[in-house]
Amino acid sequence: MPFTIAIIGRPNVGKSTLFNRLVGKRTALVDDLPGVTRDRRIGDGQLAHLSFRVIDTAGLEEAFDDSLEARMRQQTEIALQESDVALMMIDARAGVTPLDAHFANWLRRQGRPVILVANKCEGRAAEAGMHEAWALGLGEPVAISAAHGQGLVDLLDALRPLMPEDAGEDDSLVDDDDQVMPEEEGEGDVVDPEVELNRPIRLAIIGRPNVGKSTLMNALLRENRVLTGPEAGITRDAIMVDWSWRGQVIKLVDTAGLRRKARIDKIDDKLEFMSVGDTLETIRLAHVCVLVLDAGAIMDKQDLTIARHVIEEGRALVIAINKWDTVEDHAKALQQLSDKLQTSMPQVRGVPTVTMSALRNQKLDKLMDAVLDIHKVWNRRVRTGPLNRWLPAMLDAHPPQLVRGRRLKIRYITQVKARPPTFALFVSQAEEFPDSYLRYLVNGLRESFKLNGVPIRVVLRQPK
Ligand code: GDP
Ligand code: GDP
Repeated sequence: MPFTIAIIGRPNVGKSTLFNRLVGKRTALVDDLPGVTRDRRIGDGQLAHLSFRVIDTAGLEEAFDDSLEARMRQQTEIALQESDVALMMIDARAGVTPLDAHFANWLRRQGRPVILVANKCEGRAAEAGMHEAWALGLGEPVAISAAHGQGLVDLLDALRPLMPEDAGEDDSLVDDDDQVMPEEEGEGDVVDPEVELNRPIRLAIIGRPNVGKSTLMNALLRENRVLTGPEAGITRDAIMVDWSWRGQVIKLVDTAGLRRKARIDKIDDKLEFMSVGDTLETIRLAHVCVLVLDAGAIMDKQDLTIARHVIEEGRALVIAINKWDTVEDHAKALQQLSDKLQTSMPQVRGVPTVTMSALRNQKLDKLMDAVLDIHKVWNRRVRTGPLNRWLPAMLDAHPPQLVRGRRLKIRYITQVKARPPTFALFVSQAEEFPDSYLRYLVNGLRESFKLNGVPIRVVLRQPK
């Protein structure tokens, strides 16, 4: 049984809104009118990397023909039976109502873990309500805005100690944004800002013809809840299919190449030619690329070319070794692959590799786990403080060589963006900076800050 969270509280405090945020925006309807009958909903929720089950009790309000108070109690009794923790939600703008207070009293005596959640806390209008909330005796209220996605980090922190196998990550989390580095606050060297929930991951499945891409796509879509059918994509030829996996919205990027394939199957040359262009376009549209290989013919030249494109475009790469069901000597096949990777793609260490069978639906979960993990690394931000404590140690361990009789000076490093991780290095002689030293630093970054498997970019800057 997965860890289960029930969201309870009087009507209109925002339960469904939070549910939607945890489970996926498109799954349900939020209605302004109290008293609209809704079904109780259960979904797979996710906050950062924690997965759980969520029960939205909003619909139960209408299920009992009784006073609101009695209905709330029934609603909650049922929810508590099925859940490990209750999120008791109040509307901080409205303040604590007598009903909230009465209910909190009752809830306190049930001896179940309860997290008090004060919703609608965006802006200042909620401050008074936050103070009142303390008086409910359910501990510190967690201030969130379900509608705006704020405070989810705090909710995550409150949930973590209650969850069985605490994910145990030491990283502090901040809200996501694209290019701006977060404030230097909190602890830990790195920040994984994917808490902005359900920002869709654009996923592309690429590879040579006949490795099993279509089979894999179909398998994934069959196994998962498709949120919307194919919709027109960013470019004329691309389409996106929205689905969700453990609460994470995934946009599967499909390009015309795959769809056209059926028609031109026989014309091999043409197919090869077309798939290169299509593949490039697909890579550019994606955040994470799954490169599908045929276990019977691992890593030929074309595979490597595609893999290089992914890296050059700065995308996160996952290698899926498909048709694993046809392999007899698994150990040997793995060894061959790892040898090939080491020699031909030393720039990217630690690319996640999953053996699987699309045809038999085997290891799809493992593949998707790898996709989510690498997406997190791709979004990772390293704080400036730790970076500049790390840099002198690197320089000491292996001082830069002389360039035309002068020692290179490396003054400062900072991460300027994520997706992929990109660093600015302030040096004395940018033009003459040796590649080998750059590689040394990049490898160091990769190892020290857990950036395995994603491209790392460094831009050299020379202060005037
Ligand atoms: P439920 O009855 O408890 O499930 O509440 P709903 O999720 O249906 O939300 C009730 C109303 O509150 C809706 O109009 C939402 O748009 C609104 N709402 C939900 N969360 C927030 C929030 O964080 N801030 C504000 N200002 N309004 C919210
Ligand atoms: P695409 O050209 O990459 O889209 O490849 P397809 O999905 O059309 O698959 C090519 C062939 O490989 C088809 O005959 C599939 O049935 C077969 N195939 C795909 N995945 C697997 C697998 O995991 N195991 C086996 N044995 N065959 C597979």
